[in-house]
Amino acid sequence: MSEAKKHEFQAEIRQLLDIVIHSIYTDKEVFIRELISNAADACEKLRFRQSAGKDAIHEPDVEPTITVQLDEEANSISVVDTGIGMSEADLVENLGTIAHSGTKAFLKQLAEQKEENNSLIGQFGVGFYSAFMAGDRVTVETRAAEADAKGLKWESEGAGGYTIEEAGDLPRGTKITVHLTEETKEFAKEFRVESVIKRYSNFVQFPITLGEKEVNTVQAIWARSKSEIKDEEYKEFYQFVSHDYDEPMFKLHYSADAPLAIQALLFVPKRNMEQMGLNKTESDVSLYCRRILIEQQAKGLLPDWLRFLKGVVDSEDIPLSISRERMQDSALMEKLKQVVTKRFLKFLSEQADKHTDKFNEFYNEFHRFLKEGVLSDFANQDAIAKLLRYDSSFTEKDAKCSLEEYVSRMKDGQEEIYFLMSYNRETAESAPYYEVFKAKGYEVLFLYDPADEFVMDRLAEFDGKKLVSCEKADQKLEEQDEKEGLPAEKSEALAKWMKEVYGENVKDVKVSERLVDSPVVLLDEDQQMTATMRQIMQSMGQKGSIPPMPMNMEINPRHAVIVRLDSLREEDGELAGKIAEQLHDNARIMAGLMEDPRAMVTRLNELLEKVLAVKS
Ligand code: ADP
Ligand code: MG
Repeated sequence: MSEAKKHEFQAEIRQLLDIVIHSIYTDKEVFIRELISNAADACEKLRFRQSAGKDAIHEPDVEPTITVQLDEEANSISVVDTGIGMSEADLVENLGTIAHSGTKAFLKQLAEQKEENNSLIGQFGVGFYSAFMAGDRVTVETRAAEADAKGLKWESEGAGGYTIEEAGDLPRGTKITVHLTEETKEFAKEFRVESVIKRYSNFVQFPITLGEKEVNTVQAIWARSKSEIKDEEYKEFYQFVSHDYDEPMFKLHYSADAPLAIQALLFVPKRNMEQMGLNKTESDVSLYCRRILIEQQAKGLLPDWLRFLKGVVDSEDIPLSISRERMQDSALMEKLKQVVTKRFLKFLSEQADKHTDKFNEFYNEFHRFLKEGVLSDFANQDAIAKLLRYDSSFTEKDAKCSLEEYVSRMKDGQEEIYFLMSYNRETAESAPYYEVFKAKGYEVLFLYDPADEFVMDRLAEFDGKKLVSCEKADQKLEEQDEKEGLPAEKSEALAKWMKEVYGENVKDVKVSERLVDSPVVLLDEDQQMTATMRQIMQSMGQKGSIPPMPMNMEINPRHAVIVRLDSLREEDGELAGKIAEQLHDNARIMAGLMEDPRAMVTRLNELLEKVLAVKS
């Protein structure tokens, strides 16, 4: 090959170049990030090949580095690396067809949405082709790492195609030169380029030299000793990995030798992005082996419910030769996942003990992830359950009580843990379901998040104690003084009469042994879902999907209304019937089962009229 060979770009690339060249995208500076990221990839590939030690490498003593060269006179910027380089086949394959997954995603999005493409460029990063945002001509001079490789020159002015020719004896690696335009000549200026590198490429694991100095001075912070690292450096690193402008809420930096050699630096952001209405976040924890990146945003490194974490896990025990595809389902990855997850859970429980206020802040923001963990991560379910916090009838409002605390306070003879689903503390405390527990002095956890019912259901027990909903719990008050209310026989007869009044609308009417202040309550141990849950689901827009089922009613023979109702049914059967209906509706309201109260209000007005007639 003595003269330049002409090549056409793949159709998609032509389309892409057309967009890139004509875009008025303002953050053109991202092209520097893309070229440096490719240079770092090339350096990593070289290191990888070196460590595998299989074949001879050209210039084996030259370290992998990145140099950015600026030429204000020629109006150009070059990114030079001493990495793996490219053969002729590589050039055609990598720079002539679409390789970059982000680029594919970009084109797909474009085709689907026909959206203003300017913002999308920055969002996806169009890889190598972003060079054409800044330059009208791009030159790639490269020499592959193999000892017998040749120097090659690739050049293109955009959509028209590219040429490849021999370029004599080049040093190992790649030099990419972007010939800037009048509008983008700022990228030939050192101060401008330096700020761009610092912004995007500060933690690239290979030294980046610009002019005389190394620009990225902070490297692989996680591999350094904790005592040497300043808070400011942690913060900078956090901001780099998370793209957050804030400080992290928590930081866990640790190293361990067994059962796996791990250096990890994990952060919890201050805000839960999913709660802020954004889509499901992707895990932002990268996997390294001896500071060499194996996978960015490594899938399968952590369980899905820990996707709010940001940072780095570096393990020497992950063999470098492992391919990304194989890595995902290897037993080693599974082990790494378990080890890191357990360590993070331990960290959270330490925080809960030592920095309770801060932990509670974390809990407020991220509790849904913990609950997701209980539901999805069986191996860690018990450890996560210890981190759950609830309002409790025994604590100040919102004091956040743990299940362990609850168990430590359980009364002699109490065998179960009781909870009540509700909207808030006030509703919980006035719920008829709560009365018997209050009277007996049993602590009740008040749960306000619909997810909690599923969590309790899944856990089923904690520390060997059953978790039981107050709405389902079978509870009796201690011996009652019959003199205060209706005698047993009369109560039974009244219950029977009431069942006749209700017909199919109520499953059965029984005399209650648990009510204190309420005249009636609706209960059902066979219901799939507690009434409160049903109500919450309905309020979340699931109306109609859960047919209301007839429930059991319990009546309180000690309540004045019930006592009076019993005598009224002899005196005025019709009025007594109306009052019984009203009691049913009242109980449905308390259970959150009243869908349309209008019919009830009509009856209530009638009853009011009667009361007023008596009084006047
Ligand atoms: P990506 O980096 O996601 O693969 P790019 O469009 O940025 O996509 O780059 C395309 C391909 O070109 C890379 O995968 C790589 O094979 C090759 N390449 C780009 N720059 C270099 C470089 N400096 N040295 C070696 N190969 C490179
Ligand atoms: Mg790239």
